[in-house]
Amino acid sequence: MTKRSFIGLTGPKLLCDRIEPDPKEPESIPIPKRLVLLIHEPLDSTRETKIKKGDTVKQGERLFLYVESAEYAVAPDSGTITAIASYTGDFGAVATYLILERDGRSLKTDEFAKVAETPELATADKFLRHLPGAPPLARLLDTDHKIKTLVIEGTDSDLASTTRQYLLTTAKDDILQGIALIRQMTGIEDIAITIPEENKASLLFDGTRTLLISSQYTKALPKIIMKELLGVIPVPGMSCHEQGVVFMGVEAVVSMARAYALKEPVYEKVLTVIGKDGIRHRVKAVIGTPIHRIFKQFNIVCNDRDRIIIGGPMQGVAAYTLYHPVQPDTDTIIVQDCGEIPHVSDYPCINCGKCIRVCPANIPVNLLVRYLEASMYEEAADNFDLKSCIECGMCSYVCTSRIPLFQYIRLGKHELLKLETEETHA
Ligand code: SF4
Ligand code: SF4
Repeated sequence: MTKRSFIGLTGPKLLCDRIEPDPKEPESIPIPKRLVLLIHEPLDSTRETKIKKGDTVKQGERLFLYVESAEYAVAPDSGTITAIASYTGDFGAVATYLILERDGRSLKTDEFAKVAETPELATADKFLRHLPGAPPLARLLDTDHKIKTLVIEGTDSDLASTTRQYLLTTAKDDILQGIALIRQMTGIEDIAITIPEENKASLLFDGTRTLLISSQYTKALPKIIMKELLGVIPVPGMSCHEQGVVFMGVEAVVSMARAYALKEPVYEKVLTVIGKDGIRHRVKAVIGTPIHRIFKQFNIVCNDRDRIIIGGPMQGVAAYTLYHPVQPDTDTIIVQDCGEIPHVSDYPCINCGKCIRVCPANIPVNLLVRYLEASMYEEAADNFDLKSCIECGMCSYVCTSRIPLFQYIRLGKHELLKLETEETHA
């Protein structure tokens, strides 16, 4: 594998949005009658499932697809399971969705309350994996890698979102309680929090290292923070947590604090929604709310060829259905009018070099993409640094020939992982 220095970004400077002073409360989306719950496990039509159509479930109950399943979804309210079916996501990733029809009675299970008196990482993972903000409990529990630093992300990593900044500026007490709780549960001494550099005078969290982040895009991405602020050079092919650093969104910290204080899970996710007119709405919606319910509230009409992006404009992924549910990690939803979608082309690369100059990982993207276009994934990793990519999307943004470079890279990484997994199990 080619080893290249992990140098800084040159080229166009994109600025991340900053939250307005004195932000308003998010607008609450009424809980719909039917919630869509995703379980990250494929449905096998030849086997009997543990959860069945017609089952009644309580609020807070964990729903397992099979008796031996480790994955689960959590019911945000009581009701009846009315459908169980396969769900296909990005790159053919298969999951299962359940439709929960609420009964309006909000009957609760006390499973978590019984263990909430004694906060422990393993029980948290057992009950709170799907809290708003998606706490990275499995990574914190991973005994194969010693975690030296926990970075709480109070800054939004993509351009248009202000979800984390909203919580950072409005939930300080919960953040402090959450940090104390997580320190007690994990024993990690070195806990840092990222805050926008504009807020350095007003946002201080006692006992926690502050990492100031400029508004320049890519500065809030985990691997850039690791390299520039923690002095840990990203190793190609290794995740942050494999290098001893876990990143946790500030909403996960707030949710953990609230769940232990209330002795029950919490279900309301804060998110930033941007309509076709570019107007930003800050919203609270229960996990499992289909996104069309949010659009309805703001009169966002989504036509056939419009694009729905889950995540920010640089790193987000397309959603293919208006029934896509709000997930624990859904920070941003953007709707783009079909006329505004930047077109991709089948023009060849003209070797202008813009993608190379802009790449923060210094990857020869113009050469890499030739191998990816030819489905030569192992060669792309061995010779052209596929694994060094930090998935910032800048190469696609600047490409003169409008080649969908980032999509090729994501697909390439996915296919490479499949190849490597198959080799491991051969
Ligand atoms: S997405 Fe493109 S610009 Fe960003 S790190 Fe990967 S190759 Fe470089
Ligand atoms: S920016 Fe696009 S056209 Fe220019 S070198 Fe890179 S891939 Fe080729």
